[in-house]
Amino acid sequence: MPNPAAHLPFYYGSISRSDAEEYLKLAGMSDGLFLLRQCLRSLGGYVLSIVQNLQFYHYPIERQLNGTYAVAGGKAHCGPEELCEFYSKDADGLCCTLRKPCNRPGGVGPQPGIFDSIRENMVREYIQQTWNLEGDALEQAIISQAPQVEKLIATTAHEKMVWYHGPISREQAESRLYSGAQPDGKFLMRESKEKNSYALSLVYGKTVYHYRIVQDKAGKYFIEDGTKFDTLWQLVEYLKLKPDGLIYYLKESTPNPSMTAAAAPVPPVHPSAMAPKKLTSQNSDGYTPDPTGIGNKTRILPMDTPCYESPYSDPEELKDKKLFLKRSNLIVDEVELGAGNFGCVRKGVYKMRKKQIDVAIKMLKSGNEKTAKEDMMREAYIMHQLDNPYIVRVIGLCEAEALMLVMEMASGGPLNKFLYSKRDEVPVNNVVELMHQVAIGMKFLEEKNFVHRDLAARNVLLVNQHYAKISDFGLSKALAADDSYYLAKTTGKWPLKWYAPECILFRKFSSKGDVWSYGVTMWEAFTYGQKPYKKMKGPEVIAFIEEGKRMECPPKCPPEMYKLMQQCWTFKWEDRPDFVAVETLIRTYYYSIAARTEEEPVTVKKTPA
Ligand code: AMP
Repeated sequence: MPNPAAHLPFYYGSISRSDAEEYLKLAGMSDGLFLLRQCLRSLGGYVLSIVQNLQFYHYPIERQLNGTYAVAGGKAHCGPEELCEFYSKDADGLCCTLRKPCNRPGGVGPQPGIFDSIRENMVREYIQQTWNLEGDALEQAIISQAPQVEKLIATTAHEKMVWYHGPISREQAESRLYSGAQPDGKFLMRESKEKNSYALSLVYGKTVYHYRIVQDKAGKYFIEDGTKFDTLWQLVEYLKLKPDGLIYYLKESTPNPSMTAAAAPVPPVHPSAMAPKKLTSQNSDGYTPDPTGIGNKTRILPMDTPCYESPYSDPEELKDKKLFLKRSNLIVDEVELGAGNFGCVRKGVYKMRKKQIDVAIKMLKSGNEKTAKEDMMREAYIMHQLDNPYIVRVIGLCEAEALMLVMEMASGGPLNKFLYSKRDEVPVNNVVELMHQVAIGMKFLEEKNFVHRDLAARNVLLVNQHYAKISDFGLSKALAADDSYYLAKTTGKWPLKWYAPECILFRKFSSKGDVWSYGVTMWEAFTYGQKPYKKMKGPEVIAFIEEGKRMECPPKCPPEMYKLMQQCWTFKWEDRPDFVAVETLIRTYYYSIAARTEEEPVTVKKTPA
């Protein structure tokens, strides 16, 4: 997650109070001289250090639950930069206004905090161990869920630290600290027998002292009368800098013998954080009731759902992977999920060797012409080759009472309908999250040299409110390795409002044409399911585009997202970004808002019994 202060020249990162004062002294101690640093106590917080009358003042800036930033008792601001700008005009309770930034000396970057330097590896290891993912599925989970996983591990990171010894007794702690040399400040942390409490055991004058760490109602950790911290590892880092009431500061840790200290310490995930291998059932809103029953709802990540990984990721199941399925393995329900050009889509269940999966079955209407059958077979053949968590996978075809295309189930329905019906409930960040997932799926298609040719909000299906998959490959084409576009022989029943100029004018289809459609899909999503180009007819839209006009910014759409839409609507396909660039742009924005906004609780789920 990017740090919203990282780009500020007066931001020093994770430095101590005394280092901050040294920098201010070196810069001349003029009134209003200031710098910003990372708060060592609260996650995502900062400290503003200011000089006035040759004195130092340090103001903690907390990140609030709604994602804004404020000095205690002061006004809320949307970011640390905006906050500093405000206090440069109005002291509003501070010792003075911010007059002169104390910029970092040339060549000095912000000092990374302990978590900053290890988080990338931790995210990877956490996803790998928790969801047991490998290869592409692992990489895609890292890209799409890093902000949520970071929040999850921030609170469990201590379990990976060498100084954390888990649930050992007081006696065991003493015996570990008394073995070998006993310098002042030698320490370890252990889990205490009482619920949600820990103990810090510390050597001073060859004697071990034990301090109880408890949590307050807000979940902050503290030692009696001491400073409060969001996480245990922050408490340790802080107490390394100053004793804060302890008999001595923390100096040297006693490594947990069950960790391989030489390598980066990656013990097995703590049993309490051990994850489920996929939930078998979930609510379509992407939440489950909190298993503790307190009433909170907890967020399901895409990796928690049964359709994140391919149904054939198990090698046993892979043995049966064929395009044509046995009718006896398929149960077709009466329930209709929707209707398309081909016929209806029904709910069903497909029986595999070891499991049964929920499926959607596209049934070809009887009496359809031969071409419809061929079209469906082609769609099945194309989709059968694609395996990505953000694309609806085709399980296969079944020829029985009708020709049936069997797909993974995405029970949340099409994106445009979902957003329209929930327009007052779904926050704009949620729309960004879903459109980022569509970009991941499209980047995958681009890499595989497939063109979709019908990307639109109606063809993005939701597994739940936080998980989207691209579907409907009826018009798709696999390009030959050395082709960059597909030249349609004739025009057909085309979704003109979603098509780039070169598709309409020259029948040339490439991933760049899909990028144009992605821009229109974004517009549909940020308008919460409005129809693009309102009452215009297809040919009018072409004239509108050729005049250099584009659809306006939807009312709730962030400017960054409208800018991306406009880039997708670059007239010349050579100048238009590809999906690699589009995904990077939307990812950067998505991570930045995920850092700013406190989300719903994300927890690792236990598999239901
Ligand atoms: P289509 O013919 O592909 O446009 O599908 C028509 C409708 O059927 C869609 O708008 C969805 O409501 C539903 N549908 C299609 N595929 C699925 C799926 N894989 N999972 C759930 N519903 C689906």
